[in-house]
Amino acid sequence: MTGKVYLVGSGPGGLGLLTLRAREVIDQADVILYDQLPGEDVLATLPERAEKIDCGKFGGKHTLEQDDIEALMVTKAREGKKVVRLKGGDPFLFGRGGEELEVMREHGIPVELVSGVTSALAVPGAVGIPLTHRKYASQVTILTGHEEPGKAESGLDWENLAGNPGTLVILMGVKNIPDITRSLVDHGKDPDTPVAIIERGLRPDQRVTVGTLRTIADLSKSRNVRPPAIIVIGDVVRLYREDEPGLVPM
Ligand code: SAH
Repeated sequence: MTGKVYLVGSGPGGLGLLTLRAREVIDQADVILYDQLPGEDVLATLPERAEKIDCGKFGGKHTLEQDDIEALMVTKAREGKKVVRLKGGDPFLFGRGGEELEVMREHGIPVELVSGVTSALAVPGAVGIPLTHRKYASQVTILTGHEEPGKAESGLDWENLAGNPGTLVILMGVKNIPDITRSLVDHGKDPDTPVAIIERGLRPDQRVTVGTLRTIADLSKSRNVRPPAIIVIGDVVRLYREDEPGLVPM
């Protein structure tokens, strides 16, 4: 009898934004394949009885390669087990959940998606930056900053991004901040466009750095900005208040 794979989003960190369905499937899991992005609070509550497999860190070296993770999911499900693949945020937004779904389909393994609160929305929100606002932005683009601008086969259209009047939200972008900001300005975006970087959002050591397209690369270097972090570019950043306590309990 084939088991089932649950692609589970943990939310951006902390137990408060873990969904009830995520809690339920985690608590009933036979096997949990996790990485570090869900955060310590969530990882500390994984059930004793489940087999827990650490798949590696965010952004850095992976303990297991993606192919190995997928192969393990298939093997464990074939053994009839309830397999939870636990990811930060939402599994289908830069979480490789899409690839895992395809592999499970190829092997005829049933899948349930348990959507999570994505960091792309919740992390800016937690520091008082809404992604849309009638006065500032009527559209939002979420993109990966992992691709180096200028790369021949880039999936990103920098001209389009620079001309885009809405908010840009960049995940996995810390390493490429200088290239990203330069590329946007080179393609015509106003260098005075406000930018915020939120590191470790919704964690006790959350930190915000605010500047403009012109200044943010130097600022992030001098402040030693590290992943995981969300970069928000656009006029909505003007709503950030440095002296305001976080908008959500942490
Ligand atoms: N599926 C996830 C994103 C995975 S990609 C989601 O929906 O949130 C990993 C990237 O997510 C990181 O490089 C960072 O850009 C962002 N990220 C995830 N959690 C974060 C957090 N708590 N604070 C800041 N950035 C976070």
